[in-house]
Amino acid sequence: MTIFQKIIDKEIPADIVYEDDLCIAFKDINPQAPVHLVVIPKKPIESVDDVDEEDEPIVGHLFFAMRKIARQEGLDRGYRVITNCGRDAGQEVMHLHFHMLAGRGFSWPPG
Ligand code: AMP
Repeated sequence: MTIFQKIIDKEIPADIVYEDDLCIAFKDINPQAPVHLVVIPKKPIESVDDVDEEDEPIVGHLFFAMRKIARQEGLDRGYRVITNCGRDAGQEVMHLHFHMLAGRGFSWPPG
């Protein structure tokens, strides 16, 4: 079981900023920007590379949730959405998640 599953199950605490039937968003424990949120589906999909056809509505739901969270958190200057998929991308937690980063400028290309 991943650490994110434990957050979904409320077995460990997290600073939850948004929750609905299909997803949950909380503050990253090791923030890389003044605002750093993690948005995850409640369904235990491991990564982008594990999204099945039946998961299409969930992924769309996650993106609409991120838009709502951005409004809620006042991210009107913009934000970066990142998902790390697999080893080379640096994915540490094998539960699909989108990082929402804001509150500073971000360079491109990423490191
Ligand atoms: P990734 O490298 O894309 O798998 O990112 C995993 C993210 O989860 C990292 O940014 C971690 O800081 C974050 N993280 C790990 N454990 C927790 C936790 N218990 N609460 C909040 N964020 C966490």
